[in-house]
Amino acid sequence: MQIITNPDEMRDQCRALRASGQRLGFVPTMGALHEGHLSLLHAAARECDVVAASLFVNPLQFGPSEDLARYPRDFEGDRAKFEAAGVKLLFAPGVEQMYAGPSLTFVTVESMSDRLCGRSRPGHFRGVTTVVSKLFHIVEPDVAYFGQKDAAQAAIIRRMVRELNFPVAIVVCPIVRASDGVALSSRNAYLNPEQRQAAQVLHRALARAEQAVSQGERRAQALVAEARAEFAREPHARLDYLEIVDPDTLEPVDDVSGGALLAVAAFLGTTRLIDNVVIPPQRNP
Ligand code: AMP
Repeated sequence: MQIITNPDEMRDQCRALRASGQRLGFVPTMGALHEGHLSLLHAAARECDVVAASLFVNPLQFGPSEDLARYPRDFEGDRAKFEAAGVKLLFAPGVEQMYAGPSLTFVTVESMSDRLCGRSRPGHFRGVTTVVSKLFHIVEPDVAYFGQKDAAQAAIIRRMVRELNFPVAIVVCPIVRASDGVALSSRNAYLNPEQRQAAQVLHRALARAEQAVSQGERRAQALVAEARAEFAREPHARLDYLEIVDPDTLEPVDDVSGGALLAVAAFLGTTRLIDNVVIPPQRNP
């Protein structure tokens, strides 16, 4: 595996691979790799001839009071995992290599970026779409892999790619969970044992709403009430949002019959976790 920090060198290497006729898969990450990240790398390895990945903790997507400074970093551990997953080119630039001085140019997917996490984290999705645009220009992948764990991010990136004519296919991989149902996240490392236990409430709340759907409930408001009831029983978790939206536009829906995304964010102490479930289109009961 080659580790590259310079954007121009990364572009040259990626172009050389594609020029030799190889299909290039790309997995952007912020490191602190877990099985969720590995599932994207494995999908890329299965479906492409060669895999590139990036490891970059992007300051632009963190708010001023967020966890940029203490975000978990383990370059050596990550390097070994990228290599074991078959990554051929690892792009690991420093901040100064990605942002040479203050930026004046940003990519924003209007209105969608103010929904779900975008409402609680102003500027977050603008930071994501800007860095992903830069990475796409540097790597020029045939296919890029993202996780359903960040459902709003995936929807926003799909929209950006469509509207800006990026010549890349977007693949969204399923959420990987721990055995107790908690979605894997680099931020789970912040949790103490009590908070880790309490974190199960996100998954439980979603499962309770899904159960209500399977029993015939279609009204979003009633499903949100079911999920909220689960949070009411967990004093260690503080709900940030719990919403039912269209999976493509992120606009709120009143009825889930046509398919919907049920998304949740909650604080365990100062750690903010997210999770979601897709409710497929329902046949009439
Ligand atoms: P991050 O390093 O948090 O920016 O995540 C990099 C990629 O891994 C994103 O596309 C995430 O959606 C994806 N990802 C993170 N956690 C999971 C998970 N538990 N299951 C599937 N994909 C995940």
